[in-house]
Amino acid sequence: MRLSQRAQQVAPSATFQTAQRAQELQAAGIDVLNLSVGQPDFTTPTAIKSATITAIQANEVDGYTATAGILPLRQAIVDRLSQTQQVTVTPQQVVVTTGAKMALYALFQVLLDPGDAVLLPAPYWVSYSEQVKLAGGQPIEVDPTADLKVTPAQLEAAVTPKTKAIVLNSPQNPSGLVYTPAELTALGDWAVAHQLIIVADEIYGELVYDRPTPVPSMLSLGDKIAAHTVMINGVSKTYAMTGWRIGYAVGQPDIISAMTTVLSHMTGNAAAVSQAAALAALTGDQTPVAEMKAAFQQRLDRIYPLLAAVPGVKLNHKPQGAFYLFPDVSAAMAMKGITTTSDFVAAVLNEAHVALVTGSAFGLPGHVRLSYAADLATLLSAIERLTKFMTTP
Ligand code: PLP
Repeated sequence: MRLSQRAQQVAPSATFQTAQRAQELQAAGIDVLNLSVGQPDFTTPTAIKSATITAIQANEVDGYTATAGILPLRQAIVDRLSQTQQVTVTPQQVVVTTGAKMALYALFQVLLDPGDAVLLPAPYWVSYSEQVKLAGGQPIEVDPTADLKVTPAQLEAAVTPKTKAIVLNSPQNPSGLVYTPAELTALGDWAVAHQLIIVADEIYGELVYDRPTPVPSMLSLGDKIAAHTVMINGVSKTYAMTGWRIGYAVGQPDIISAMTTVLSHMTGNAAAVSQAAALAALTGDQTPVAEMKAAFQQRLDRIYPLLAAVPGVKLNHKPQGAFYLFPDVSAAMAMKGITTTSDFVAAVLNEAHVALVTGSAFGLPGHVRLSYAADLATLLSAIERLTKFMTTP
């Protein structure tokens, strides 16, 4: 069967692949410590589940909904932006999607014509480049500075008349870095000057440490920047709701309306039951979020110095958000005589039984991503195994 060129040019998600290999080893009875998956290890808070069960029993979630999502949920998103970011938008500027992933997919579908370019500051989340390609666009990687951030000067060197958009993800997956408001403003001003759309992926926006939360949304940095921004968010990471599949986009009404039209032929609407759950999450007690955040921070504080002390592992900065560490392992690879990052990750999985994700999947080989959305005992034991792996000839 000859598959379409579109299908052939898309790489499978590296995170899912690693997780699958880890599961195979686990099925063979091997005790694998899986630090490859990008989801909280907590369960969805009980109050959210209870509210959802009530909605099911009241027959509120049996039918299709509006493609853009139920109005109370879009209103809750509007209210949240107003309360936490002092940003004023209307429900017409919001579309609810099947996970943030689908929001991004629909956005690239409505933005890009064949050959249009999208700037992706590396390291970047695996799906951006594949989704850009699926929309006929060209992903353009932009190498970061040593602190893994990108500056307007670096973007200036990569921009062409074909450039349509730039993706900014802060807090960032895979590095956990958080841009300062001044840095975001400089990047936003640069994008406005070039008439680019800013795809602001703020899915980890509530998971920030060592600073007052939340960090400013791109939508809060003045009217000009806001007019060029489509903000992507969702409930997956903040509320431990990855399986419920609810994300959303907020932006100018013409873009949101075009995304809604595309989505009307793709998903129809995000699952009604999950929308009820997301509504309960956004409007309910936020204590569970604070508790999960505190747990992530405690783990980060504990494991950061230990990981940094593993021979050959270099951590240039302590992450301030999300739940990932993204060390430079090029020295470790050299010590082990391994040349590719994928081979290094395979060796760590097969010999130390710790599952990590290769930095190549994020546009930055020589690094690995480790998720600390796992309990502390697992994390400590994984670092012990890594240390043994590195110190055993
Ligand atoms: N954006 C980033 C940076 C992510 O890391 C993820 C999930 O891994 C998503 C978007 C997609 O999230 P969702 O589960 O809502 O589709």
